Amino acid sequence: MTLLPSDPEAERSIAAALVVEDDPRSAALMQTILEEIVRRVVVVNTATEALDALAESSFDVITLDIGLPDITGLELLHHIRELSDAPVIMVTAVDTSSSIVEALKSGADDYLIKPIRPAELRARIGAVLRRTGPRAHEVELYSDGRLVIDFARSLVVLAGVSSTLSATERRLLHALVTHAGRVLTHDEVIKQVWGAGYEGTQANLHVFVSYLRKKVNARGDAHQYIQTHRAIGYEFVPIEATP
Ligand code: CA
Repeated sequence: MTLLPSDPEAERSIAAALVVEDDPRSAALMQTILEEIVRRVVVVNTATEALDALAESSFDVITLDIGLPDITGLELLHHIRELSDAPVIMVTAVDTSSSIVEALKSGADDYLIKPIRPAELRARIGAVLRRTGPRAHEVELYSDGRLVIDFARSLVVLAGVSSTLSATERRLLHALVTHAGRVLTHDEVIKQVWGAGYEGTQANLHVFVSYLRKKVNARGDAHQYIQTHRAIGYEFVPIEATP
């Protein structure tokens, strides 16, 4: 299980970024954007060059294209993780959600989908650096290799199939995942999702939980992420990532 927290006050200055990208237009765009917030930006076009750059110096953040000319970005990620614990943001084409799951399972910190949008790249860089900061606490991402929950994007990816979360579903799932492994009472969940003055009934909560279950579990799954404790509440039960 990976729980990646964030704290907006833990922003740090960025000294060096490595961009691994073979597409010249994407590389040039990323370099321009990163140079606004990073003191030194190194752009390389192949995995071999990336490993050479990592052997020479250290980086505070790495962006890694999945489609590279020599080996895949996923293979390169495994090599990088032996050399560096810098946050890695995978950059990928739209239709490779199974690659995203694989990348997060292999130690990537986040991902960006092409085409690169400048504001999103800045936000993602800021977010991974905050997450790796020391005072982090709020969960933004859950990943165990099968299920990925991206709270920043209100997105659930289950075995490569993605679905979006409504605002209420997102708050509900966030409350459960933040307290993973402990039972939240119905009242606690209602307070976190709808606020203290909520006048509705528990029936409403049960309806939203049933919607969420369809998104985090496939039909016939043995493991139930959201477990019911009769007359008490709900519990998010993670599964440990296989190494
Ligand atoms: Ca590429």
